[in-house]
Amino acid sequence: MKHYRDCQSCGHPLSRDPQGGGTEADGTRSSMYCRECYEAGQFLLPDISASEMQDRVRADLIATGFPRLFTGFHTRKIPLLERWQPTP
Ligand SMILES: [Zn+2]
Repeated sequence: MKHYRDCQSCGHPLSRDPQGGGTEADGTRSSMYCRECYEAGQFLLPDISASEMQDRVRADLIATGFPRLFTGFHTRKIPLLERWQPTP
C-alpha cells in the first residue's frame, strides 16, 4: 500500500497525528487518512465535499490562532488529495 505524508482527506501531516493515522475496519493503521477523518474503515464525515473540508480546515486553523491571511495557502491543495479525486 502506498504511504502518504499527509492525510488524503484534510491535508494534515500524518506525522503530527498522535495516533499516527486513522484505522481500517480490521483495526490496522490507515496510511492514507488521519484519525479525525477516518476511523474503523469509515469516513467520519462521509457526505462532506472538498470545499466544505477546506472551510472546516480553515476554521480550525483560525481557531488555533493561525493568521487568516495564510489559511488559503494551507487549504488550497485539499481538492487535489486522493479522497476528492473522481473514482474512474
Ligand atoms: Zn484528515
